[in-house]
Amino acid sequence: MQMQFKQKLPFEKVILISAPWPLYNRPSIQIGTLKSYLKKELPDLKVDAHHFYLKVAETIGYRRYRAISERTWLAETVYGALLYPKHLENIKNIFYKQAAGKPLLRKIVFETLTKQIQEVSEAFIHNIDWEKYGLAGFSICLCQLTASLYFIKKIKKQFPNLLTVVGGSMFTGNATRNLFEMFPEIDIAINGEGELPLSRFISHLKNSMSDGEIPPIQGIVTPESAKKEAPVSFLQMNELSDLVPPDYDDYFELLQSFEPEKTFFPTLPMEISRGCWWRRKQEGVKSAGCAFCNLNLQWDGYRSKDPAQVVLEIDHLTTKYKTLSVAFMDNLLPLKTSRDIFNRIERLGKDFRLFGEIRANTPGRVLDAMQAAGMHEVQIGIEALSTRLLKKLNKGTTAIQNIEIMKHCEMMGITNSSNLILHFPGSDQKDVDETLRNLDFVLPFHPLKIVHFWLGFGSPVWQNPATFGIKAVFNHRNYAGIFPVNIFKTIRFMIQAYRGDIGHQKKLWQPVKKKLKAWKKSYDELHQGPRHENILTFRDGKNFMIIRQKRLEGQHLTHRLEGTSRAIYLFCRHRRSLKKILDRFPSVTLDRIEPFLKMMVDKKLMFEENDNYLSLAVPDNPHAS
Ligand code: SF4
Repeated sequence: MQMQFKQKLPFEKVILISAPWPLYNRPSIQIGTLKSYLKKELPDLKVDAHHFYLKVAETIGYRRYRAISERTWLAETVYGALLYPKHLENIKNIFYKQAAGKPLLRKIVFETLTKQIQEVSEAFIHNIDWEKYGLAGFSICLCQLTASLYFIKKIKKQFPNLLTVVGGSMFTGNATRNLFEMFPEIDIAINGEGELPLSRFISHLKNSMSDGEIPPIQGIVTPESAKKEAPVSFLQMNELSDLVPPDYDDYFELLQSFEPEKTFFPTLPMEISRGCWWRRKQEGVKSAGCAFCNLNLQWDGYRSKDPAQVVLEIDHLTTKYKTLSVAFMDNLLPLKTSRDIFNRIERLGKDFRLFGEIRANTPGRVLDAMQAAGMHEVQIGIEALSTRLLKKLNKGTTAIQNIEIMKHCEMMGITNSSNLILHFPGSDQKDVDETLRNLDFVLPFHPLKIVHFWLGFGSPVWQNPATFGIKAVFNHRNYAGIFPVNIFKTIRFMIQAYRGDIGHQKKLWQPVKKKLKAWKKSYDELHQGPRHENILTFRDGKNFMIIRQKRLEGQHLTHRLEGTSRAIYLFCRHRRSLKKILDRFPSVTLDRIEPFLKMMVDKKLMFEENDNYLSLAVPDNPHAS
């Protein structure tokens, strides 16, 4: 059966909307990229992109917006209350529970906040001439669900002939099936990335001279096609070279309309790749990729842009928008081409401030190229400091690899904003013991952020719950507090809950949590003072070296290494196996080298794992090493 719709002719204009709560200081890459692609493919189509969340941030204040947008449940409750006012009490409870740790939000009057949001949202709807548009597209990612549904409901009520289209990571594959039944205001869902399906759909609408039917288009899910048994269709670009740089004009125009004291220099989001190369099929592994991760449901495989394209794009965007902060939104930067890309970015000669996500096994030379190009902050896929647990997570890395890259970031002055996952289902006392032991060695480095495991729809753990000791999976109960019961029972939401060893895990990981908090406190205190000094450093005297360990209490410790001891310590600035050390220093016998290495490990000056050794001190003057 073909889809029926009432088409407005002529079809000349579309509107794309990004609802709260993405980070306010960045334009939406989703609608920015879609806009530029549609303009390229359909030059006579007019596309307006509304980064409406920025207006909300300006209205309620940037600090308050940030505090809400940092937590999914805080974000989803605000528009949840506007969508379902009958559930206000339940929704308020969720909000205040989540706000407990946030001084900025604890004392807020929820009704005042929602009223303020309602007013600015209604003004937005009121000020747009919706009759001009043939289609309204909503990009729905994490934290944007209730806000997008609110707008769709309100707009559709007033303009029933406007086609409403949803896309984004929130609903993919079979999760789109029951959407139309539960939210009849949605006309079409896009499964996977939007560029090809949406441009083909719009092209059909533009060229069709009559009301009514459209043929099936891959990636376009309609109420009719959703009912069919066959897998939901999907269509993505073979190559990212078809993309042109995102168009952020609408975001910057909105920002410039604010009072001078409310403007700022935004960060420009960019993408080099889509998908994750670590998720490739692996032999003997049921589901590829990290066990907890559901970040790549909307993509098939891994695609990355050519280095020349990336460099042209970053140059173009920063020149056009006159800002130098760029965040690479990739789930994972490409391994093979990153060095070339960042070498070329460096040659542009601009003082960039870059952010990107990388894996722990990123080679040192790639990290060097990133730093030279202006990489200021990285999120490394650390997740655990126990090799035993990393295996369960299917990270494909080891604790010593994690510690090595943490050390290199510290040495290079790159902020490492990575996570440590607690409460992973199936983790045990041995994982915790290993983590506690290894934590003693990373205290000189930037602390990891505590993240409690949450079950993502479609992640390998969700797909194979029994493997992780999980007895049942279901929607997170907070959705039941927000949505009517029929929706809660029918829709598979992104955040899932489970029955398993939750209570046991909480108890198990308590000492780690305590140690992580102490780590952050001591790191912050040791870095107080006018000059940033690393905690564990060495100065080299060519045939001797002095290592300094800063301590919170008591005198700082110093150690002197001479001759071969110094040479071994320098050799182990990258992790080295015992065999490699012995090969490199043939004049030193095993019975002499082992006690030395053991002493260095006991003093927490080196880390050891499975006969691999890593020196932990970083050069006091990194430029001299
Ligand atoms: S966590 Fe990162 S590396 Fe792991 S599967 Fe997800 S995107 Fe890939």
